Amino acid sequence: EAPALSQVFLRAHFDYDPTKDTMIPCPDAGLSFKRGEAKRTDDSDEAGIIPSQICEERRRSFVRKERPKSGIFCGGSKKKQKIMYKSAKNSDFDKHEMLVYEEVARMPPFHRKTLVLVGAQGVGRRTLKSRLMLSDRSRFGTTIPHTSRVPREDEQSGKNYHFTTRQEMEQDIRAGMYLENGDFEGNLYGTKVDSIREVMRSGKMCILDVNPTALKILKNPEFMPFVVFIAAPSLDDMKVRYKNAQADGNIVRKRTDEDLQKTVDESEKLYNTYSHYFDCVIKNENLEDGLMELKQRIEDLSTEPQWVPVSWVY
Ligand code: 5GP
Repeated sequence: EAPALSQVFLRAHFDYDPTKDTMIPCPDAGLSFKRGEAKRTDDSDEAGIIPSQICEERRRSFVRKERPKSGIFCGGSKKKQKIMYKSAKNSDFDKHEMLVYEEVARMPPFHRKTLVLVGAQGVGRRTLKSRLMLSDRSRFGTTIPHTSRVPREDEQSGKNYHFTTRQEMEQDIRAGMYLENGDFEGNLYGTKVDSIREVMRSGKMCILDVNPTALKILKNPEFMPFVVFIAAPSLDDMKVRYKNAQADGNIVRKRTDEDLQKTVDESEKLYNTYSHYFDCVIKNENLEDGLMELKQRIEDLSTEPQWVPVSWVY
């Protein structure tokens, strides 16, 4: 169980510099912050004007669509709000699709129930997952996906996959029993939410390497995920990594420079879209260092204080 609440903070998921905000009536009254920074909600010494949720959402969608004049909705101080406020039990901030502010609490060390590895295709997420699993089978477990594909000769149901019919899978998907699913070469694949619960019941940390769209379902007190983003190194470093893997005979699938570039681009896109979910980022320059850092970050959970959503604590 999570320990008791220590204090409520507000974490911003964007950078804010009041001196660059043309809509603020008096920049001195503004409170500057950086993406990911958390500030106390009851600290009168550090109170100031910040953009409202709606103002920031609109600014972002303007920037995305590359329309001119990003500030026109932000009209004046009425649409700004003071950072001092009373925290509600069901935070208004967390209801929004685009996470601008989030109520967080700083907790003493405790174990998370799931470990979610997020990253672009080709960044080495799957290898990290299996290496971590192998490093301590008594501590880490993972889910077995379901598929409508027919078993291959050496495959048994319940080992690599649970084999079932498309009809049954589709029915269960409609019933909301799947964390995620996808079609591949005419077969349906997916991970059931219950299969995560099964691993958790065994007392192991459940490692998931899923599409980031699943994060929305996972980020709650039941699954208490530790979300690690496996970031792609620069293109030059990717090329070096690939060459070394080739020399070591560790290459399963041939990859061109364009493939490597695709991984770098996708990695950046994923970061920009989902960074508010990430507890930490590991740059996977090479497998050994990446694995060591991942293990260290997991160890840190039992020694270092952690920032978690307030809803995990109440
Ligand atoms: P195979 O049939 O060769 O075992 O796997 C084919 C593809 O299915 C792989 O690319 C793999 O990534 C994908 N796959 C395996 N399990 C799952 C799953 O649980 N969900 C989704 N969306 N795809 C999966």
